Amino acid sequence: MRGISERIGRVLRQQQVKVAYKPQITINSLFPRPKAQKEADRSQSGVVYKISCTNCDFVYYGQTERQLKTGIAEHNKAISLFDHNPKVAYHVHENSHHMDFSNVKVVGQEGNLQERLFLEACLSTKDQNAGKDHIAIAEVYKSLARAKVPRYV
Ligand SMILES: [Zn+2]
Repeated sequence: MRGISERIGRVLRQQQVKVAYKPQITINSLFPRPKAQKEADRSQSGVVYKISCTNCDFVYYGQTERQLKTGIAEHNKAISLFDHNPKVAYHVHENSHHMDFSNVKVVGQEGNLQERLFLEACLSTKDQNAGKDHIAIAEVYKSLARAKVPRYV
């Protein structure tokens, strides 16, 4: 903040505290996200989806029985509430990163909850960059998940 940051910095430096300033607005935050997603995808329900970080390799697999856009809205709500429990909100706040909510990919569609949870867990297990936030799956299935996930990927 102009005027205030400098004064605080001066006082801290007098106490031998090193001071660095960080802009609140970054170049990245000024550009609109590329290619807004098709509305048809956002209306799909019973989906397993993948959200990527725009700043690093972090990805998150989630599932919702409702429409994809509802699932996305919940992630945004968790972020705005500083709810650090969900992996996505935690990643955003911990690293000051942005998730690419305009390009959430549907990676599977399945009406059955257990099958959706299993698919989510398989994809998360397989992906080295994924935030792990899924049901526990037995070791035998983990090796299967790492080997190959047919149909979906
Ligand atoms: Zn990131």
